[in-house]
Amino acid sequence: MSAPSNFGRPVVTRIAPSPTGSMHIGTARTALFNWLYARHTGGKFLLRIEDTDRERSTEGAVQVIFEGLKWLGLEADEPAVFQFARAERHREVVQALLERGEAYRDYMTAEELEAERERARAEGRVVRSPWRDASPDEAPGRPFAVRLKSPLDGETLIDDQVKGQVRFQNNQLDDLILLRSDGTPTYNLAVVVDDHDMGVTHVIRGDDHLNNAARQTGIYRAMGWETPVWAHLPLIHGPDGAKLSKRHGAQAVGEFADMGYLPEAMRNYLAKLGWGHGDDEIFSDAQAISWFDIKDVVGAPARLDWAKLNHLNNHYIREADPARLTQLVAEIHESRDWKLREADLSVLQRSIPLVRDGAKTVLELADATVFVLRQRPLELPEKAQALLTEETRGRLARLKDRLARTEAWEVAALEAEIRGFAESEGVGIGKFGQALRAVLSGGSPAPDLAGTLVSLGKHESLARLDDVLSPAS
Ligand code: GLU
Repeated sequence: MSAPSNFGRPVVTRIAPSPTGSMHIGTARTALFNWLYARHTGGKFLLRIEDTDRERSTEGAVQVIFEGLKWLGLEADEPAVFQFARAERHREVVQALLERGEAYRDYMTAEELEAERERARAEGRVVRSPWRDASPDEAPGRPFAVRLKSPLDGETLIDDQVKGQVRFQNNQLDDLILLRSDGTPTYNLAVVVDDHDMGVTHVIRGDDHLNNAARQTGIYRAMGWETPVWAHLPLIHGPDGAKLSKRHGAQAVGEFADMGYLPEAMRNYLAKLGWGHGDDEIFSDAQAISWFDIKDVVGAPARLDWAKLNHLNNHYIREADPARLTQLVAEIHESRDWKLREADLSVLQRSIPLVRDGAKTVLELADATVFVLRQRPLELPEKAQALLTEETRGRLARLKDRLARTEAWEVAALEAEIRGFAESEGVGIGKFGQALRAVLSGGSPAPDLAGTLVSLGKHESLARLDDVLSPAS
C-alpha cells in the first residue's frame, strides 16, 4: 500500500498543535486526516508540540493534547517533538541563511519600523527595510532582527491538494522576520525547520495557515529544501454555517468525551467533516484508511451536525462490547456518587444490551441503567402508588408466584410468561404492566417488562415485588 510522495520516500504527516489548554475539534479533525493519510499510504504520523508561547504552554496544556489524541486513538508513531527545545537549531538555520546571502540583518529601531509602516501604508506597498541592500560594513552596534531576502517580483504558487493552485504576488509579501531582535526564532521559521528536520512530506492543516504556506515556501527555497505537499483543510462551521463559536456548544475534544461520545463515533463523524466516500455514513477505521485520499477533501467549510453525530454515536454504542460500556457507565455513576459494588458491575453489564438501543450518548446509557442500581426497598413515586389498587396487587402477587416458578430468565421466555399470565387472568397486559414496571424500577426509566426483569435478575425482581406486596413491617 506504500505510495511514494513527491520526495520519492514514504509519506510523513504530522499534527502540530499549540498547547492552549484545550484541544479543539478542528485540531482533532486535522489529526485524523493526517493519521488516515499516513495509514493509507503506509507512511508515518508524527506529533509536534508548538510550545514557543511560554505563557500558555504549561505542562497541563501539553497533557491535554496527549490525552486528547490518546482518547481519539490517534497516537503518533514516534515520541513528540517539542518546538521550543529546538530554538538553537532554528538559530543555526538563520545563520546558514545569512551565510548563503538569503537573509540579512535588519537594524531598524522600533521607531524607524513604525515610520516605515506608516509610509508603506500611505504608498500602498509592503514594508521594506533599508538594510536589505546595505553593506555589512555599515552595521551599527545595536540589536538586529534577521529577515529573509524574499523575491521582489514574480509569484509564489501554492499547489494545494484541497484548494487547488493559489498564487501569491511576491511584491505583496514583505521580508519575513526569521529571528527577532531578542534572538527568538519566529513561528514560520520554526515550522519550516521542524517540518524539514522531521522529514515531513505532506503538510495537512487548517486553511487559516494558507498564507503561511506562501511565507514558508520562501524559506524552503532559500535553504534549497524541497517543499512539502500542501493540503489546507476548510474550517469547521456551526450547524448554521457561521464560524464555530461557544454558542454552538462543545468545541473541545475533552467535552465530547465527557458528554459520552465514543472515540470511534468521533472518528467516523470527524472523517465525514470535509471528506466522504460516496453515501457511506457508517464505516470502520479500516474502511476509512483504505478509502481516504487527501485529494478528495472538499474545499467548502464543513458544518457540525449534532443529529448526525448522535446517530453515529448511538450506532457505536449498540455495537460496543458490553464490558467496555460497563466500565464507562460505572465511571459516570461513580462520578455521581453512587458507590458501586462488584455485584453492581455484573448487573450493569447484563442490563446494558437491554437498554442501549435508544442511547445517544454514554451519559444517556448511564441514565438508562439507574433502575438496576437502586437499593431496596424502592421508594415508589405517588403515581406508582396510585396504580397499586387491591385488584392490581392481587394480580401482581399471582404473577410473582408464576415468575418464581419460571426457570428460563430470558427475554423471550419472560415475554411468553407475561403474555400467558395476562391470558389466564383474562385481561390485557395494560391492566398490570405499568404497575409492574413501577414496582420493578421505582419510577426510573426502564426497558420493556421482560428486559427489566432480565436486567434485574430473578432474585432482585422477585424481591422488589415482595417489598411492595408483602412489606416486612
Ligand atoms: N501550531 C499551529 C496551530 O496550532 C499549526 C501549525 C501547522 O500545522 O503548521 O494551528
